[in-house]
Amino acid sequence: MNKVSGMTVKLRGAMASLPGYVPGRTVPGAIKLASNETPLPPLPHVLERISVAAGTLNRYPDNWSAELGEALAERHGVSPDRVVVGCGSVSLCYQLGAAAAQPGDEVLYAWRAFEAYPIVTAISGADPVAVPLRDHVHDLPAMAARLSERTRLIFVCNPNNPTGTVVHRDELATFLRAVPDDVVVVIDEAYHEFVTDPDVTDALTLLDEHPNLIVLRTFSKAYGLAGLRVGYGISGNVEVPAALRQTQSPFAVTALAQQAALASLEPEAESQLMDRVKAIIAERDRVQAELIVAGYPIPPSQANFVWVPLGDHTVDWSNGCADRKVIVRPFAGHGARVTVGTVEENDRFLDAARALRP
Ligand code: PMP
Repeated sequence: MNKVSGMTVKLRGAMASLPGYVPGRTVPGAIKLASNETPLPPLPHVLERISVAAGTLNRYPDNWSAELGEALAERHGVSPDRVVVGCGSVSLCYQLGAAAAQPGDEVLYAWRAFEAYPIVTAISGADPVAVPLRDHVHDLPAMAARLSERTRLIFVCNPNNPTGTVVHRDELATFLRAVPDDVVVVIDEAYHEFVTDPDVTDALTLLDEHPNLIVLRTFSKAYGLAGLRVGYGISGNVEVPAALRQTQSPFAVTALAQQAALASLEPEAESQLMDRVKAIIAERDRVQAELIVAGYPIPPSQANFVWVPLGDHTVDWSNGCADRKVIVRPFAGHGARVTVGTVEENDRFLDAARALRP
């Protein structure tokens, strides 16, 4: 019963059990290592472009982010109708759910992976087929075994959020050959720029052989623009981008976001951003190594975060970090995901982790 109106309202039954998206917590005075953001503020060059774009805020933005789409198409050597820009790559996930899946269908993904996938699936009304990770890694043979005539959408998160683990070229190729060529497969590469393992495929190289793929990338992580909300998809076909344009909220990507992304792709800016990425990678490897020395069984991460498997200790351990003014992202009963920050932030986290070793 609604206390204000004294009425109840009729919502879809799915709302009663819809999993909630849990954002990383921001606690004033504490270090936030909970949302896989980059620790440094946007480049001055990018801020300048944002402030110029702010002068046009009386106007709606370009609904299709055409200039950005063309820049991305040129960079990746595809036609612009195979590129789609979204309000963060998470909205592209939602649009994919709306475009490809409905009641009676199945959406296949590994679990645990990015927490948007079950929400997208539940909203679409399709049935989730969540295949447990094996040793913190996508179990692609087990996923292939769960393909059915009802499968309509597949998410492969590489590197995987929250475990940071990757699948390698050969296993991905074998999996993709098992998928019927009319089923939409999403390779979510939100953390692609942090990958150093040479056996990991850049999924864009698979599009010619598998036109049913769409690869998702984002400006939120390596490009440091999480607050602006801009991501994109590159597809092997033109139908999926067209369907994502049909399911987009009008004007979803702001002019500020479009211009900031364009500015970030300029060579000078991008090379500075990739230097930042290199520093994060070095820190990731250091944090991981020091956690292992401290006795934590850390799976190898190829992203800008590490996964600390803690089982039933997860919540206490994460609260212990918070008491030490370090905010991590707990997944109760499983583990905690800890974003790689600056050297000082990581040192603070490592001190906490050493003190809290269960
Ligand atoms: N995919 C994965 C695997 C992610 O971890 C995230 C962000 N947490 C996203 C997509 C969405 O990122 P954004 O919407 O900021 O582009």
